[in-house]
Amino acid sequence: MKQDNSMATGRAALRVPTQVAALIDGEPQWGGEVLPVLDPYTGESVAEIHESSAATVAAAVASAEQAFRTGPWPQLAVEERQQVLRRVADLIERDAAALAALECLNTGIPLRQLEVGQIRRSAYNFRFFADYLGQAAGEAWYQTPGVTTYVRRRPAGVAALIGPWNAPLALTSMKVAAALAFGNTCVVKPSEQTPLTAWRLCELLQEAGVPAGTVNLVQGRGTTTGAALVADPRIARLSFTGGTATGRRVMAAAAQSLVPATLELGGKSANLVFADADLEQALDAALLGIYSNNGQQCLAGARLLVERRIAGDFLAAFAERAGRLQLGDPFEAATDLGPVGSVAHRDRIQRQVRGALADGCQLLVGGPETVVPSQGSFVAPTALQAPSMSLPICQEEVFGPVATVMTFDTLDEACQLAADSRFGLVAYAWTRNVDTLSRLENELRVGTLWQNLTVTRELRAPFGGFGDSGTGREGGRACEAFYTAETTISRATGPRPPLRRLGLR
Ligand code: NAD
Repeated sequence: MKQDNSMATGRAALRVPTQVAALIDGEPQWGGEVLPVLDPYTGESVAEIHESSAATVAAAVASAEQAFRTGPWPQLAVEERQQVLRRVADLIERDAAALAALECLNTGIPLRQLEVGQIRRSAYNFRFFADYLGQAAGEAWYQTPGVTTYVRRRPAGVAALIGPWNAPLALTSMKVAAALAFGNTCVVKPSEQTPLTAWRLCELLQEAGVPAGTVNLVQGRGTTTGAALVADPRIARLSFTGGTATGRRVMAAAAQSLVPATLELGGKSANLVFADADLEQALDAALLGIYSNNGQQCLAGARLLVERRIAGDFLAAFAERAGRLQLGDPFEAATDLGPVGSVAHRDRIQRQVRGALADGCQLLVGGPETVVPSQGSFVAPTALQAPSMSLPICQEEVFGPVATVMTFDTLDEACQLAADSRFGLVAYAWTRNVDTLSRLENELRVGTLWQNLTVTRELRAPFGGFGDSGTGREGGRACEAFYTAETTISRATGPRPPLRRLGLR
């Protein structure tokens, strides 16, 4: 019997594009080095990438540049662009089960979390920017007598959009939706580890009516494909999400072409729990903060800071519940944690944890000796009580299900500990005391501070980091500013004083 994919869910919804490559003008560019795409649960190759060479990258940029110059996308009426973007959102929703299954296969993130989180969010990204576009307003000044000055915001040009492997579709869709909404064309480079949903997204963009060449895709490693893309002088905007070390390289390349770059980088965010908080919620949130998405979140609450007088019970409950989390097949509904992104990543995490133990940290739960499923790159949910915030485990991003824990006695101490990081992406605070919240608001140099809330991404508001967490912001107005180029126009609109008359003597 013919299977109806539109109704299928879970593994049954899987439709794996077993070969992926660059897409230029909608056409696949086969050839180049072939790399495997792995399922981190089975360790098996599920697809192959045909890596884009520097020449393919140059062709992708040339096509996007041509599409920018000759249109029609940048010149379309806002209503037409909105229609296409909304159609993309509809198509993502139509194919949500298949997209969730594909992302689950390629990332190991539990399917259930993808379905309610990242995939819905991907559709919303397109809807949000479609709506935003219809309401965007301009600036004008009339203070100078006889002169009106206003700002024209035009599409910036070709945007290079580079993403990581931990939330491939959610992050790529955000970048593509924003770049397209403001009339740009783009070249997308997903992580070589997780290229599959970006490929599907490009198919959906085409189906929705995005003209050929408007969104081109390149595939491959950072050192080859990524480096070629960021070095291309025809790029007008560079939006990068990934690690801090890579971000520095990308920024250096952007400096060569003097191109504005938004860098969304790593994090080591503090989650502060005060004794007067709703402790049940704070506990639920602390667990979600570090163990969602297999712990691989830039905004993970990786440094848990708990007020000492409640720390005993709070941490005992935290460890007990963390120890009960179910590790296994990410397609299974009961699974809380799937495998981390790769075997190499697992080994790196375990090395960091062993280093922490050698540095005097105490295991509250998990650790490298904990029994985990033998198949797949699993890391047991781990929490380490740290004697000092200066240890590498408290300063370096782990990007896995590993929390460090410290206690504090006073608000001063809490602020000091939270601020002791070169990162500054987000922070979480749990307290009923408004003065405490205000103090944290004043002191913490973070892009987003969630107060008595888990991750609640308000797309209208700017999101981004301080320090090693990056530069630039994403969000409604921030994206409008980034993806448009401003021209200030001043026009004589009334009587002006007479001009100085040269050459009449
Ligand atoms: P990564 O830096 O290794 O790779 C990110 C992307 O950059 C990939 O597509 C990669 O191929 C490409 N790349 C690598 N070298 C390049 C180069 N020289 N030039 C151009 N492109 C290059 O990061 P990752 O391991 O894929 O992702 C994990 C990191 O991403 C973590 O540090 C995490 O915190 C961060 N992240 C940040 C956010 C945020 O919003 N701040 C969101 C998600 C992930």
